[in-house]
Amino acid sequence: MTDPIQFDDWYDKFNRFSGDLYPGRYTRDFVRDLVEQGREVAALAKQKDSVIVAHNYQYPELQEAAVEVGDSLGLSQFVGRQSKPRVDFCGVWFMGETAKTIVGDRARVYMPAQPGCSLVQSIDHARIESWRRQNPDGLIISYVNTDARTKAMSDYVCTSRNAAQVVRHAADHNPGKRMLFLPDKYLGAVSLAQSKVDADLVDLYDGGCHVHAKIGESALDEAYERHPEAELLIHPECGCASTCLAKIMNHESEFSRAFYLSTEQMIHHAAASEAREFIVGTEMGMLYRLRKDVPHKIFHPVHPEAMCEYMKENDLAKLLYSLRHDEIEVLIDEPTRRKAQAAIDRMLTIQ
Ligand code: SF4
Repeated sequence: MTDPIQFDDWYDKFNRFSGDLYPGRYTRDFVRDLVEQGREVAALAKQKDSVIVAHNYQYPELQEAAVEVGDSLGLSQFVGRQSKPRVDFCGVWFMGETAKTIVGDRARVYMPAQPGCSLVQSIDHARIESWRRQNPDGLIISYVNTDARTKAMSDYVCTSRNAAQVVRHAADHNPGKRMLFLPDKYLGAVSLAQSKVDADLVDLYDGGCHVHAKIGESALDEAYERHPEAELLIHPECGCASTCLAKIMNHESEFSRAFYLSTEQMIHHAAASEAREFIVGTEMGMLYRLRKDVPHKIFHPVHPEAMCEYMKENDLAKLLYSLRHDEIEVLIDEPTRRKAQAAIDRMLTIQ
């Protein structure tokens, strides 16, 4: 975090690296307000001994206010290694829950707002319970980007990166048992194909993310047409990246210049690559950090609509309010937290 925050620095960075992503947002007056808020946020975080973290899809000013920017599980593991008594987590609600699951009683976790997530909202807990009743010996595998209750109902949790590995592991250690994979149907289908597990034994939940649906199946092909020399960088954090993910995993020939990378790997790859242009196959918030850290390269969003409105419910004014008033705390009852933690721990031993 820059201390003290300088108006010229923020005004320049926000417009240079994200002016096209958020047209009209970073006027001089607005940035002046942001700088005031940012300074107060920094002072209050120090006073309250809080660690502020922000997801890659957050607005630039929240990324600047945070001490760590990253993906959902990475941020939760980061706060798990901190000793501060308070965490201010800028992301959607299930991400705050994952952080709380990992830190337990050691820290209080606050959020600037309570943003939902269409992928999580596509989960019906009653359906999972019904599946469990019909398959008492069955295994439930859920994506780490789910609410704490779903994790607590699961035998295994997986990330988009290790989903196939977890499915394979679960099948090998529980031969012949039925499995339910949820909630992202695209991730489920790809993982099933990759793991080569008997498809007749796996039920795929039919959930999905609205950002993915909004950008459409052809967004990636159209982006390649517009930028034929570009490499594709994909950070498969959310359901919004499902199409790109499926095409890469299925090795479609036109996607041979596609790279499936973590946040840090993306930055290193873009800096070292001979390519000058990159299509970023995920929510557009990711571009701010890439453009800032690798300023001599060109980054295009996969689609101008690749924005998650839930993520953008957080803003600096709400973070400031939260630090002043401590209103939105993430709380999980202990039995649910312990079960969710067990499912996460099981995944971490498989990686
Ligand atoms: S991009 Fe999709 S999966 Fe990610 S937080 Fe937004 S709605 Fe949820």
